[in-house]
Amino acid sequence: MMCTQVQQHQEANDDTISEISEIVSQVPLPPEKSNMAKQLDSLGYLNIAEQDSTIMVSLMYTRADNFTGKVLYTELQEAYLHPDAMRCLLKAQKLLKERRPDLTFAVFDAARPMRVQQVMWDAVKGTSKQNYVSNPAHGGGMHNYGVAVDITLATLEGDTLPMGTKIDHLGREANISNEATLVKQGKMTQEALENRLLLREVMKEAGFKTLPSEWWHFNLVSRNEARQRYKVIK
Ligand SMILES: [Zn+2]
Repeated sequence: MMCTQVQQHQEANDDTISEISEIVSQVPLPPEKSNMAKQLDSLGYLNIAEQDSTIMVSLMYTRADNFTGKVLYTELQEAYLHPDAMRCLLKAQKLLKERRPDLTFAVFDAARPMRVQQVMWDAVKGTSKQNYVSNPAHGGGMHNYGVAVDITLATLEGDTLPMGTKIDHLGREANISNEATLVKQGKMTQEALENRLLLREVMKEAGFKTLPSEWWHFNLVSRNEARQRYKVIK
């Protein structure tokens, strides 16, 4: 915005060019958006960081320390959601702030174009991990519609809270249906359980649905509803 104003000013009055260059050099330029981010912008999806800068974004598939052990997002660095899901996420953040002003959300994955889903599928196909990835040939998953988010709680300093497992942990400890047993067996702390409950409480109150096998994953709608109401992001 500021750059546009400066440019208009420059066209209007050549005498002040040297002064203007100085001003421009002080304005930090935003990093160039990837083509995938520009595509999502053009399709009407919303960038979480642009909607609420207090929500932290750290996409796990831009790094190799995810369950596939490979960098899957070579281009997309931004977390996008369909406007319907974004509305609910902003509501959830408001509910969280009311309950715990010392906490915020950290988003680890959001909208995932189908061509990236294909890369992910190819990375796990034929391995023990393939059950954890939606097959693009079968229509993909809710991330491909921009109506799912992988999310956890963090301090304002950016430290994620203990949740019993890492995000993307493959195994029973990630399941939300037998947490009391996990605590009893010493596989999860009471503190981690309470953190999970708070995350679920604000996300559900804002309109999201849980996924039994992954404490960090929330869908806006069911698979059937998504297929009827939303388009897959190609
Ligand atoms: Zn997910």
